[in-house]
Amino acid sequence: MQLKDNFGRPINYLRLAVTDRCNLRCFYCMPEEGIHFLPKEQLLTYEEMIRLADIFSSMGVDKIRITGGEPFVRKNLIDFLDTLAKNKQINKLSITTNGILTRPYLSHLKSIGIENINLSLDSLNHDNFKKITRRDEFTNVIGTFHQMISDGFKVKINAVIMDGINDHEIIDLAKLAIEYPVSVRFIEEMPFNGSAVKQTSIRWNHIRILEKLKSAFPDIAKLPTSANSTSENYIFDQAKGNVGIIAAFSRTFCGSCDRIRVTSTGEMRTCLYGHNVLDIKKMMRNEVSDESIKASIIEVVQKRAKDGFEAEKKRGINNPIGESMSVIGG
Ligand code: SAM
Ligand code: SF4
Repeated sequence: MQLKDNFGRPINYLRLAVTDRCNLRCFYCMPEEGIHFLPKEQLLTYEEMIRLADIFSSMGVDKIRITGGEPFVRKNLIDFLDTLAKNKQINKLSITTNGILTRPYLSHLKSIGIENINLSLDSLNHDNFKKITRRDEFTNVIGTFHQMISDGFKVKINAVIMDGINDHEIIDLAKLAIEYPVSVRFIEEMPFNGSAVKQTSIRWNHIRILEKLKSAFPDIAKLPTSANSTSENYIFDQAKGNVGIIAAFSRTFCGSCDRIRVTSTGEMRTCLYGHNVLDIKKMMRNEVSDESIKASIIEVVQKRAKDGFEAEKKRGINNPIGESMSVIGG
């Protein structure tokens, strides 16, 4: 079967947060202190995640991205990935990481068929990286980046652009695509930073980011947008890679959204901006059968919001966005 939503959109992509914990404190994602990481019992176990992947893959989900929090801070992640990679219905297994603990595992990831890695890198300046992430890990992360390139991974760099913080680095970050065969993606900042302060606008939206890129690379040309892509991608002269812009706050790509999320607490979200719609962990722990879980998944997917604005509205005034991206899974 192919899971489809109430607008006929096929759902074939699952983003699975394996933990809410992290060894960085990127300020756009979580506060510096006072974070209450979830007790382990509240997280899905790996066995539950394997079952969950089996359920979704039998419903037509063939792409899974492992995210978090920082996936590599969860113990025995590699054993879990080994098992997950054996699911033949999953065509593409990928991972998003901050690159701190990742390097020793790269060759193993390759060996089990993980080729696509998204690496978060918001700055190419040691001090600025430290200011953004509140940890002194720049040298380590750059080392991971170089290793990923020399190992031949398909690397996407994720950079959240923040006014007065790293907007002056847009061009330097884009130049990575001249030197290396990477896709450098500039992401609009979203309000998922662990505080319930409503963010009504952003200074660096996709239009302004593109203007900035055009000012430095006048020959920049748009690449055809692949179906379901969240980024608009561009190439410019001499580039070995490309650059992309993700209008995550402006939400221009919702119309073709093929993704769902399962948070680190085992709850399903049919839109990043919406609320959790199904507690799969609870169902599993109450010994609900796979067939009944599938029926519930179909039911919530049939009530999916048209786009991120509608989803946000549906949360209601008593449930404003206040969660950290590390719990939902970015
Ligand atoms: N820890 C891993 C990492 O940073 O790559 C994976 C989890 S992180 C939540 C996944 C992605 O979400 C990162 O690329 C991060 O930049 C992005 N992200 C987190 N908070 C965000 C926010 N408020 N706005 C936009 N992107 C955000
Ligand atoms: Fe950690 Fe990733 Fe959030 Fe940064 S963006 S604090 S690395 S989960």
